[in-house]
Amino acid sequence: MWVDVHCHGGEPPDVARGERIHRVLSAWDVASFATVRAMAHATGASYTLGIHPLYVSRSPDEALDELERELERAVNDPALVAVGEIGLDRYVAAEITPSAYARQQCFLQRQLALARQHDLSVVLHSRRAVDDVAAALRRGSPQGWRGVAHAFAGSAQQARTLVGLGLKLGFGGAFTYTRALRLRRLAQELALDDIVLETDAPDMPPQWITPGASCGASCSNSDGAPDGTPYSSAELPRIGQALAALRGDSVAHIAQVTTRNALWALPRLGRTVDVR
Ligand SMILES: [Zn+2]
Repeated sequence: MWVDVHCHGGEPPDVARGERIHRVLSAWDVASFATVRAMAHATGASYTLGIHPLYVSRSPDEALDELERELERAVNDPALVAVGEIGLDRYVAAEITPSAYARQQCFLQRQLALARQHDLSVVLHSRRAVDDVAAALRRGSPQGWRGVAHAFAGSAQQARTLVGLGLKLGFGGAFTYTRALRLRRLAQELALDDIVLETDAPDMPPQWITPGASCGASCSNSDGAPDGTPYSSAELPRIGQALAALRGDSVAHIAQVTTRNALWALPRLGRTVDVR
């Protein structure tokens, strides 16, 4: 049993390979809410609702009111497991002018408050902004959080900070690139109890899908992986194998512990995921 804690779409996993894979599909803007929910309901997946930091500049203020209404409506839906994908992104120049970044921070703060209000976990995006996301989390709740820092790519110290705030760290396609030395060392040295697995499909494909391609955390929510190569949650067991090889651990143990971690980070998953 595997849990893909973060993806946006792609084909439902191929169960014919004999692997059970539960997906958590994340929305990225208001227009995606209905699509993601319908996709989750149709395929037995879970979902999260939120506004991605790279979609903040093109979202009106009312998007936050719409999110609040949607969360109120969906809070009794067992397939809803978190608020996400939310966070901060300091990678794209146009999104980090002082006013644009202030707006990102404002959207994050309000979305964290909504998660707290509805007792929901969070799925966080923090590209070149881990310290700012950690500060927002600290301000947002003195009692800590449950959730996932998706596509974690910070330092060992930043990993400790996020874990201390109650998060699990998402590892996916990026660490499978042999040149991603720093990330691979982290994936090797962090406690397995702090790690969850993700594909971010159809974004961030692993090395074997597009050999030599950039592994930058684009999270562009495109409709397909680069070059039209199919990339979906079906790759999650292979990502788990890559982690097992890196850590000198067994694949079965990686699957068992990362699934347990996913259930801890996203407790509402326990309503739909049968781990037996
Ligand atoms: Zn994403």
